Amino acid sequence: MEDLYWLRSSVHYLLHFVFPFFLAIAFFRSFWRKAYLIMIVTMLVDLDHLLANPVFDPDRSSVGFHLLHAYPMVAIYFLGVIFLRNSYRAVAVGLLFHMFTDFQDYHFWKLLPGFD
Ligand SMILES: [Zn+2]
Repeated sequence: MEDLYWLRSSVHYLLHFVFPFFLAIAFFRSFWRKAYLIMIVTMLVDLDHLLANPVFDPDRSSVGFHLLHAYPMVAIYFLGVIFLRNSYRAVAVGLLFHMFTDFQDYHFWKLLPGFD
């Protein structure tokens, strides 16, 4: 299933780096460049992977495992999307969308037959 691994990685990086551009245009139109940059910088949340061994494991879901990817943290990011404003909301949107990206990267692809 070599093709699916390639597709999985492509989807992952498209969601991490390209899709935030559309989020920035859709939700932060008045400062979309700054919002896009903020959402890219929220990728630093992946620094918590350095606490794990191995740092990356394709057979492990980041969400629910790493400290800043824990479900209570996801709930905090969600509340941030609702209650924060402007740049702070862009941080929360970036983090929540990051969690979605990491979640689908494991759970969605597990649903496909022959992918394990
Ligand atoms: Zn992550």
